[in-house]
Amino acid sequence: MSKSLEMALRLFSPKGALHEPSSGNFNALGRDDLIGALQVAAKNNPQGYQYLMADHLLDTEATQGLLAHFSETLGCSEAGGMAMAILLRRPQSERLERLVLSHPHYDKERRRAAVVMEKAKRAHRASNNHEYQRLLAERNVILSLAREHCVAEMMRSGRCPHCNGTGMRPRLGDECPKCHGTGRVEPDTELVSRRFGVQMWQAVEHAVEEVIHQASDLVRVMDRQVREMRAA
Ligand SMILES: [Zn+2]
Repeated sequence: MSKSLEMALRLFSPKGALHEPSSGNFNALGRDDLIGALQVAAKNNPQGYQYLMADHLLDTEATQGLLAHFSETLGCSEAGGMAMAILLRRPQSERLERLVLSHPHYDKERRRAAVVMEKAKRAHRASNNHEYQRLLAERNVILSLAREHCVAEMMRSGRCPHCNGTGMRPRLGDECPKCHGTGRVEPDTELVSRRFGVQMWQAVEHAVEEVIHQASDLVRVMDRQVREMRAA
């Protein structure tokens, strides 16, 4: 990423807002200069700007804006969600569901839930229906919380839970079968074409490329702005 963009994005982040850009070459340019340059660059690249904010700062507003953009462009909110996942390289829901089972946290909680389930069965056998219902509910809460936790963790880190991001199978040391050695949880492009057909897949790909193109144009324009400001 370009240095000037990095500095500008940092100004928008909750932590970064406290720090004035002061490192090295950027002494000459202040906070307002950088934000000004970013705004100029963002003007013709609104989705590129949202993408950078969503990707680097996990900005919720930008994420929602992009999702709305994709859904409208593609005429389908589900395809819009897929485009988002591909753009942000986040795994899609179906794969996430499967990968949750590989997550060490889920595995731990699943065992805890199994113990509660055993107690529930015992209560059932003893015809203690009230206790049975209570334990059953407790077990379901354990599993759904664990699921949520793991999905959130994978969305955040993009790391394959099976190999913990190493790309290699623990113990055996060969290629991880879940991520094919990448260590990443990647969006499944085949999933889109299987569900929506090839035409929609091409539209999704095109929409994603357009946003990436905007982002690189934004960086180019911003760098030029910064160069001009420093030369002035
Ligand atoms: Zn893996």
